[in-house]
Amino acid sequence: MIITIHNQVSNEERNQLDTLLGQLAVNPKHAVSTTMDDREVIVLDGSQLDKQALAVIEQQCAVESVVEVKTQYQLVSRAFKNESSKIEIGDTEKGQSVVIGGSNAVPVVIAGPCAVESREQLLSTAIAVKAAGAQILRGGAFKPRTSPYQFQGLGIEGLQYLKEARELTGLPVITEVMEPEMVEIVARYADILQIGSRNMQNFPLLYAAGRYSFHRPVMLKRGLSATIEEWLLAAEYIVSAGNPNVILCERGIRSFDTHTRNLLDLSCIPLLHELTHLPVIVDPSHGTGRRELVPTMSRAGIAAGADGLILEVHPDPNSALCDGRQSITPEQLKSVVREAQLLNQLMESVSEQTYVA
Ligand code: PEP
Ligand code: MN
Repeated sequence: MIITIHNQVSNEERNQLDTLLGQLAVNPKHAVSTTMDDREVIVLDGSQLDKQALAVIEQQCAVESVVEVKTQYQLVSRAFKNESSKIEIGDTEKGQSVVIGGSNAVPVVIAGPCAVESREQLLSTAIAVKAAGAQILRGGAFKPRTSPYQFQGLGIEGLQYLKEARELTGLPVITEVMEPEMVEIVARYADILQIGSRNMQNFPLLYAAGRYSFHRPVMLKRGLSATIEEWLLAAEYIVSAGNPNVILCERGIRSFDTHTRNLLDLSCIPLLHELTHLPVIVDPSHGTGRRELVPTMSRAGIAAGADGLILEVHPDPNSALCDGRQSITPEQLKSVVREAQLLNQLMESVSEQTYVA
């Protein structure tokens, strides 16, 4: 249950509401108070409250509205907020911002290397992905590698190159954060924080990304074998900790077949659009693990209604220190971007025609 508090509430009215909730035996430890769209909201498990109790809460001066949400995830649910969230990335003042999500938005393309390998590699790739039409640059500075003997990323040095790449190209940047203690530092360099698959249920990290990221948007990748429910509850952790700017990223889930690295679950896109107001983007690079499948699965992602794509791009994929097998070249990126735009236009004109008919 979500109680939205009036903007102009007095201390007395607010205290009255807390007293009432205490009387109704709502455990304050289980109720979370946070801010959503500039409004204070109180989220609690309302399943124990009867109709009469709900009516009394609704009548409180402090209360603007009460919404009963039947799912465990609440703030991220479409039952609470019907309008699709638009997430603004980057510097609005310099006119360099990009919007992800919202109905009728053009799909956004995020592209760049899996890992920041060197200054030269990152800056040349940044220039190339911009020329190919991508709107956001990706690059991992901290890499969660399966083996301790693989390249682990350049760390802070990598963050500095990302900052330089943004200054050079004007592209906002996204990079992964793996530890709660690093959230603030990464948020000082990056425009979007990425929480990777392996950390989707790292609850202290989710909390920190909600609380200490200066409201920087967070791209939450689906866990290796996470259900949609677990994924949405992970997003709920970030939002309930104070950061409403969450983007979901489908990157494939574990399957029994080894021909592809993962099984890209495209059916989750229309499903998520029903369940949540958060934007959803698709990662066909990790979703397939094979560069020859990336263009087709990019088109499929857009056709399924994704709000954007995140793609691994390397000037020389065969020499990449990380995920070269699934990286495309800037030249290939150019046609993926073009196809995404054309497909989106086609889909818009088809839906307009359906509407007229
Ligand atoms: C990545 O984006 O490079 C990455 C490590 O992704 P994932 O967490 O989806 O494996
Ligand atoms: Mn990768």
